[in-house]
Amino acid sequence: MSARSTNASTESAATNPILTAEILSIGSELTVGGTRDTNAGELARELSDAGVAVLRLTALPDDLDVVADAFRQSTQRAHLTLSTGGLGPTPDDLTREAIAAVCGEFPAVDDRLEAWLRELWFRRGMPFPEINLKQAWLIPSAKAIPNRNGTAPGWWVERPGGRVIVALPGPPREMRPMWRDAVLPRLHKCGLGVERVTRTLRLWGVGESQAADLIGEAVLRRANPAVATYARSDSVDVRISAVGENGRDAATIASEAEAAIRAVLGGFVWGTGDIGWAEAIGRALADLDRTLVVAEFGTGGAFAALCGELPSLVRMTTTGAAGKLPPDDEQTVSDLADAVRRDAGADVGLAICARPQGGDTSAVVAVSSPEGSVVERRTVFQGGPQGRARAALTGASILLQHLTGATERTPTEPAREAEGVR
Ligand code: AMP
Ligand code: MG
Repeated sequence: MSARSTNASTESAATNPILTAEILSIGSELTVGGTRDTNAGELARELSDAGVAVLRLTALPDDLDVVADAFRQSTQRAHLTLSTGGLGPTPDDLTREAIAAVCGEFPAVDDRLEAWLRELWFRRGMPFPEINLKQAWLIPSAKAIPNRNGTAPGWWVERPGGRVIVALPGPPREMRPMWRDAVLPRLHKCGLGVERVTRTLRLWGVGESQAADLIGEAVLRRANPAVATYARSDSVDVRISAVGENGRDAATIASEAEAAIRAVLGGFVWGTGDIGWAEAIGRALADLDRTLVVAEFGTGGAFAALCGELPSLVRMTTTGAAGKLPPDDEQTVSDLADAVRRDAGADVGLAICARPQGGDTSAVVAVSSPEGSVVERRTVFQGGPQGRARAALTGASILLQHLTGATERTPTEPAREAEGVR
């Protein structure tokens, strides 16, 4: 391993397009749960956005055989194997050794990388720790990827059949710029992914299983467009993802699926894409040029947590779960919405009154506005903080429906008490 080479970072591009990828997160700190693997998710998202099918994400301990085996297998399955971690200077950082083993090659110190590394220490007036020489290693198949934020260069390795291995350092502040500035542009030169159109419909007031039922199994099982439901804390999301097929472009295929889903679930859609509640309500208020006042009781400030930063918010009153609660009959809550609106001189008043009901939470929500007023009682899933958060979300959804005039529910009118139930 001490031979010298001058295999420096000359540009080259693999010839085959990259349509599939696997991500390996290397480091025992991940597999013992000491460090949260954030790299894999970030890179998976970037690759997916670029239209690459990510086949799997794998976290691996610092074990040479395990890591080498993972590289061997993933290069057989996917066009691109992207790893993070294991490029440090210590003996437990084994990514270079593993890739060398898979390629049947031996690492050698690269003169230019060594000079660059020694210079880094020289500039600080410190002796070069010989242990770091490992970070100047290359194998004949590897090109170094410069690291401007650390001492670990990445590796770009081309395998037979146009397969590519890219090894990135583990620390996110080194990984991200290397990915963005050096790796992603080079992957694009190889031909990265296919055109993919993704749409997300954000739903409230319907459970995930009920949404899935209404969409239907046939649609959910189809590969293209891929339609999937996700129960998130603030929404049930329906994600539609399409690629071009049989001469039809991705956008057309996605739009058709979206129209079909809106036909059965349109009444529950409160937003699209990655919009949040505060932004959706903020936009609706801005469109109408309206100000808002909110009084929430028994929610522990859950609505404030959701929408506290709204620019059109005049005032917010919060009474915690333990505070003294007003009676929660519809008339009282409706009067409260009128009263806070009048007192604050705001255009729209929202009153939310939540209280435990069995193991669940009862939410009475009233909106008072120039268009008129509305009051609704709903039972949301679970008590405690989860139930209070859902009561606030229910308040947000009733407010948003009132503001946007989207008061029509779907003809099927799924049970309201199912709110928040998966
Ligand atoms: P390494 O390149 O294996 O020496 O990793 C150095 C450091 O980068 C680790 O101690 C973690 O703090 C961080 N790191 C490594 N892998 C990941 C990952 N998958 N997600 C987030 N941070 C990571
Ligand atoms: Mg490590």
